[in-house]
Amino acid sequence: MTDQNKPGSDDPPVAEDAAARELAPGDKGPSIVPPDSFTGRVSTLHEIALQIDAARSNDEILRVLRNEIRWILQHRVCFACLLNTFHSEYTVIALSPQGESGLKDGTRHPAGAGVSGTVIMNQSPLCLDPAEFAGEPAGAQEGAAEQLPEEFLKSAGMRSLLVVPLRTGDETIGTLGFASEAEGAFGEHEIVLAQLLATQVAIALLHNAVFEDAQRRIAQIELVNELAEDLTSTLELDQLLSAAAETIRKTCSFFDVSIFLVDRPRQEAYLVAHSGTHADFLPAGYRQKFSEGIVGWSITHDERVMSGDVKEDSRYSANFYTETRSEMSIPIRVEHEIVGVLNVEDERRHAFDETDAIVLETLCDQLGSAIKNAQLYDRLKRTNAKLTEFDRMKSDFLGIVSHDFRSPLASIVLAASALLKRPDAVDGRRLREYLTVIVDQANRLIRLAEDTLSMTKMEAGQLNYFFNMVNIERLIKDTISMVTVSGRHTVTYELDPRVGFVRGDPTKLRQVLQNLLSNAVKYSPAGGKVTIRAAHHSSEQLVVAVTDEGIGIPADQIGKLFQKFSRVDTPQSKEIKGSGLGLWICREIVKAHGGQIWVESQVGKGSTFAFTVKKAHPDTTLE
Ligand code: ADP
Repeated sequence: MTDQNKPGSDDPPVAEDAAARELAPGDKGPSIVPPDSFTGRVSTLHEIALQIDAARSNDEILRVLRNEIRWILQHRVCFACLLNTFHSEYTVIALSPQGESGLKDGTRHPAGAGVSGTVIMNQSPLCLDPAEFAGEPAGAQEGAAEQLPEEFLKSAGMRSLLVVPLRTGDETIGTLGFASEAEGAFGEHEIVLAQLLATQVAIALLHNAVFEDAQRRIAQIELVNELAEDLTSTLELDQLLSAAAETIRKTCSFFDVSIFLVDRPRQEAYLVAHSGTHADFLPAGYRQKFSEGIVGWSITHDERVMSGDVKEDSRYSANFYTETRSEMSIPIRVEHEIVGVLNVEDERRHAFDETDAIVLETLCDQLGSAIKNAQLYDRLKRTNAKLTEFDRMKSDFLGIVSHDFRSPLASIVLAASALLKRPDAVDGRRLREYLTVIVDQANRLIRLAEDTLSMTKMEAGQLNYFFNMVNIERLIKDTISMVTVSGRHTVTYELDPRVGFVRGDPTKLRQVLQNLLSNAVKYSPAGGKVTIRAAHHSSEQLVVAVTDEGIGIPADQIGKLFQKFSRVDTPQSKEIKGSGLGLWICREIVKAHGGQIWVESQVGKGSTFAFTVKKAHPDTTLE
């Protein structure tokens, strides 16, 4: 519509500079004058209604009102009060020409406050005459954070106020207000026109809300599809979750989006991805106890939490998020178990609805599958790394074994050949020396063969155990007699008088003790005392410990000692030959007996290897 088409447009209703001026108390500037005839104004209203109907956004509707309203109703100030989705508060929007009435735009008030509150509640217009409206500025409200529109208008010298509901059918979504400095400015005609206009505006705003909501939903569904593709193609978890948080925040226009993963052993959730206003305050790695906040509640109660007003919610724990008003936490599950939480926050109250929750829950299902894939991939990578390491250790082992088999065999062949060559020339002492070499080296071969065989059987799960009552003193004595001890070492044993029998496989237990004792001797090249002790450990178990005064083990290498093929990586240890299998076999056997094995050691001072084994009483029945 152009000004030429409007009634009275030849004579512009208001001087531009006057309309642009802000109102000041006592300012009696000229009002906007609409055409006189009621029918003329109704037909103008019809044209404006068509424009409003064609508007595609709230801003457009308000723009039409700002430009055109002056043609229908004589007023000085026009404003709208729009209720939020939850009808808990309204926001004031100044609608005077060019919006420069001085009325503060954007102030919020509780739904029932002031004149607009009354109109919303009663769903009928209010026209206030001078007696009810004019008067001194509302001193009581001075300094208050948010001034009600009528308080401002009163202080700006307005003497008439007309407020009509923005209503369609039963639903009221706010009010439309007009003020004038003239007394009795709004009569019956003005009330009818204002109500007709308000109905058109209300219908258009409601249509628009539905349209905008539909657009938002479409964007959300597109987001779900897009993310589904990204999530299935990315296997790096951190990267994947950061991208998801960022996209969700941008598409859904949430103020803050974070993704936590669950650390069950520590009963904590830790932040892995964060996008939004507070991402700088809470970087990745931030930890939160299960007992804290809405995120914690969602994990411990295994349910989605939607809090419309965190200030009223006892589950909420405020940290840096002082502006947060709404929060929603949705569990992310992998095979029914919660592995994480998607948390969204907003500074508006009741910012999320059921459809948001459904969209985000669908996303969480996809995040769950993506996390599972990424975890599987991670596990695969680790297994692969282990296999590569294992392969390397196995090659080392083969090298060691072939060497270890060859050198005792060479010694045996050498000693036996010498005996064969000159049997008569060998005296009794020499003969014993040669035979000792042969027996010792053959024993070394047997141990190596036994270790290799045990490993193969253990790996195949074919090592059988035959449990029996084992006399611990006999076990120790037998072991000592079987291990070759050089003249530089002294081996003794000490027994707690309470120690008698243990429950175990005697052959396997002897293998453990034999390994520990031969290591004690082997890794004490300078000789020294080796002691085997058997003592009471608990009512159920006793402990057997082998202590030496040898080279010891650096603290940083102790952790890997009981792994297969693991050998201490120091020049001193490397000089002494071995396969790195003995301690692994010991640990497997002790584990099969329900015990534990460990070591305490000091470099240069010696080591103590100890294991626990179950006590047995002579009257116990063994399977
Ligand atoms: P190996 O055949 O190499 O002796 P083990 O599995 O028995 O294999 O031992 C693993 C490693 O632990 C050895 O290579 C050695 O470095 C270290 N070790 C074992 N027992 C002792 C000990 N009593 N004193 C010092 N180091 C030891």
